[in-house]
Amino acid sequence: MDKIEHIGIAVKDLEAANEVYTKLFGKAPYKTEAVESEGVSTSFFKVGESKIELLEATKEDSAIAKFITKKGEGIHHIAYAVKDIKAEMKRMKGEGFIVLNDEPKKGADNKLVCFLHPKSTNGVLIELCQEISE
Ligand code: ZN
Repeated sequence: MDKIEHIGIAVKDLEAANEVYTKLFGKAPYKTEAVESEGVSTSFFKVGESKIELLEATKEDSAIAKFITKKGEGIHHIAYAVKDIKAEMKRMKGEGFIVLNDEPKKGADNKLVCFLHPKSTNGVLIELCQEISE
């Protein structure tokens, strides 16, 4: 793994949260994007070399909606950048981690992503992401 790519924060109201984080960082998100397949709307802020992703559920049965019902707003996942997501997924499975997808899927911000179940990572949902090169 190369670095922490971003930290994902689950929010109830993306518009309201965007205002809070715009004040916090002194600048607006550089991108907002809906990921239909995941039932989320996202926005991304840059803080130096780091990124923060805010996620709001757009469907009642989405993972973010369930997370907020169970735990409330807060840190949802930590994403790590990898160069070869398929190789990393294979390595993770080999190490006994619970990899939540069989194949990488298209995530927000031009990434291929997959998730590791928090049960196998001391309670933290981990996202692996690889930049899609075009
Ligand atoms: Zn993420």
